[in-house]
Amino acid sequence: MTTKELIKKVLFVEIIAGLALTLKHLFTPAVTRQYPKEKREPVPGARALHALAKNDEGQAKCVGCGLCAAMCPSQCIYIYTSEGEDHKKVVDRYEVDTLRCIFCALCVEACPFGAVVLTEHFEYSDYTREAFYYNKDRLLENWDKYMAGEKGKVYFEKFWGPKSKDFALAGNKSEDRENS
Ligand code: SF4
Ligand code: SF4
Repeated sequence: MTTKELIKKVLFVEIIAGLALTLKHLFTPAVTRQYPKEKREPVPGARALHALAKNDEGQAKCVGCGLCAAMCPSQCIYIYTSEGEDHKKVVDRYEVDTLRCIFCALCVEACPFGAVVLTEHFEYSDYTREAFYYNKDRLLENWDKYMAGEKGKVYFEKFWGPKSKDFALAGNKSEDRENS
């Protein structure tokens, strides 16, 4: 032990410094929020409840390619498709089991059409497991509730837009961005 360390120990320097810090914080305002009475502003680009994006005509953007489900590490996205008119793929069911989701947003990154998003809405506790199983209708409703209008646009422009021009297909977010 050096002389300096010895003097510090004898004079309780570190203890006094610790007490001084405690004393200082006794007179500063508390930073603890009294949730749920006090809430933070929503964080844009947050990874909370899922939604399926709609295009300007109010139709689901999802084409049922299955990339999001393939990328999902929790395997909690279920997509069921069938063949419609003109041999077009129809998305019959799109479901997310949010209880298994780890909110990594890989599904959002994987989607070349900007068709699936994670909204800012995180307050959706419930009493049954079924309530956390989101089908296509509920996911589209989430878009209207939490992402419609400018919010959805900003979400992709600022946070989750794919960079590759290879994905610049009709109604795709890359193309929207380039034309805007
Ligand atoms: S956020 Fe991650 S875990 Fe959740 S559905 Fe998307 S890919 Fe799966
Ligand atoms: S959300 Fe995107 S990646 Fe997933 S099936 Fe639909 S279009 Fe494909």
